[in-house]
Amino acid sequence: MQTKERADIGVFGGSGFYSLIENAREVEVETPYGSPSDAFALGEIAGKKVAFLPRHGKAHRIPPHMINYRANMWAMKSLGVKRIIGPTACGSLTKKVEPGSMVVADQVVDRTTGRIDTFYDGPVTTHVSFADPYCPQLRPIAIEALKSLNINTHEHGTIVVVQGPRFSTRSESKWFASAGWEVINMTQYPECYLARELEMCYVNISLITDYDVGLEGLEGPPVSHHEVIEVFNRNNARVKGAISRIVEKIDVNGTCGCQSALQGARA
Ligand SMILES: [Zn+2]
Repeated sequence: MQTKERADIGVFGGSGFYSLIENAREVEVETPYGSPSDAFALGEIAGKKVAFLPRHGKAHRIPPHMINYRANMWAMKSLGVKRIIGPTACGSLTKKVEPGSMVVADQVVDRTTGRIDTFYDGPVTTHVSFADPYCPQLRPIAIEALKSLNINTHEHGTIVVVQGPRFSTRSESKWFASAGWEVINMTQYPECYLARELEMCYVNISLITDYDVGLEGLEGPPVSHHEVIEVFNRNNARVKGAISRIVEKIDVNGTCGCQSALQGARA
């Protein structure tokens, strides 16, 4: 079912992000692939039309491996979204990427299993280029926005996406780190790829919450629940600030290679 509501920019995130959206109204979107994670909040940020979706649902009830990624991305597309900001909470696989810093990822490694990760099951065979998974126009905008807010920003980084819901073993984590990958997460794939299949620009901001388990000797003393909540809230505010700034800088009428990703993808 197509809705008459429209938005130019899509934003994923936690339920704490609702306060970002001005004049928000809830919009339910149905897709041929089922229901998205929740109702969308449609409204404005910096005068631009934005569609916001909490990828785990409002009450954080959908674990990473159960998210209906196709429905979420199809719904974004059907709302008219051209460019998507996909922030994620992530672990760090390397000492040089510190908790509290943010990574504007430029590569992704898929270690998930069994997730439906394409819209193109035939009969028209479609091979989409994904050598550079993130939008070349949005990445510099995001980097500049984070830096302008004095956020400790890493301009490059590879995210390894694990299936979850379990965390990695020490050996898996060491293996990922030894490959030179910096960031680990459970939701970035297939979200970023499905955006490309639907010719939407996509940029990730990885908020580093902690060091992954393989980094022995780097985990300090265990933090209290209170400290975790405090760190989370402080970072949530920083991510919200970053999203506002990025939306402000995005040219909604700009054209980009991501928006013609299917050219040459079919025989
Ligand atoms: Zn793009």
